[in-house]
Amino acid sequence: MLRPSAFTAPGRFWRGNLHTHSTNSDGVLPPEEVCRRYKAEGYDFLALTDHFIGLYGYPMTDTRPYRDAGFTTLIGAELHSGAQSNGELWHILAVGLPDDFAPPATTSFIAEPGQETGPEIAARAVAAGAFVAIAHPQWSGLTLADARSITAAHAVEIYNHGCATGCDRPDGAGIADLLLTEGRRLTLIATDDAHFSEPDHFGGWVMVKATENTPEALLAALKRGDFYSSQGPEIRDIRVEGDKAIVECSAAASVVAMGWGTGAKGVHGHSMTRCEVPLDRLLGSPWIRISVIDAAGKRAWSNPIWREAGKNPRIL
Ligand SMILES: [Zn+2]
Ligand SMILES: [Zn+2]
Repeated sequence: MLRPSAFTAPGRFWRGNLHTHSTNSDGVLPPEEVCRRYKAEGYDFLALTDHFIGLYGYPMTDTRPYRDAGFTTLIGAELHSGAQSNGELWHILAVGLPDDFAPPATTSFIAEPGQETGPEIAARAVAAGAFVAIAHPQWSGLTLADARSITAAHAVEIYNHGCATGCDRPDGAGIADLLLTEGRRLTLIATDDAHFSEPDHFGGWVMVKATENTPEALLAALKRGDFYSSQGPEIRDIRVEGDKAIVECSAAASVVAMGWGTGAKGVHGHSMTRCEVPLDRLLGSPWIRISVIDAAGKRAWSNPIWREAGKNPRIL
């Protein structure tokens, strides 16, 4: 029997948003007000991740003053350096950065020759202790080769709420599935990328399992993959037993298991809180991930569950 670590790790789930901006870069609200709003909305933690660009003085926004007994923050930034294959500047999310993380030579949102590359700054952030994610792949126009090049990344943004509401380009699942199929053990985060300039907040979050709501415990749990992501539904347990996945969740209209290629199977019903998804349609995929979709169309996403290292028997 396999269970994702989010459901076996000790502790409880803490709700947080890992991608947010303030007036320290191009957000509308000052850091104190951003933190106040997330806390008032019921979040347990927030990472304020301003654009780490010279234009804004390379901000590493200090949210420590807004921590209290019921709410904590992670120090982070959205890193930018070097060009993607479309010539545009990289966007890489880094949570858990040190205050003295050395700035790249990125003066504006325009990529310039000679800059540290995206893969290099991602690796430097990981070496400095951060949890690193490939941000908004669809919005960025990332190719698979671009995404593949960020070898240090822990995660991919499977859903970016600001890119959903502002651009109708929320997706990271397509490129994440291709990377998983190449054997990359990435996790999947939903984020807001809130600037408070649009209805871009309180739409995508992570539920992190940890014994305490502290930056250290949350960061370690993120790196271990002890979390799932959501727009609303709760995932309470997932167990893979033989050729079925048993999913316990808040009231769902569909529960879908996915693997490589076309491998997928959905189970549908009314207000399902427990269901068994047959996995025989997953074509022997070494990884499985689960989506829970409620009657309003809101989703929750598990991290990939790895069954084995495998090769798709259909690829000769
Ligand atoms: Zn971005
Ligand atoms: Zn952003």
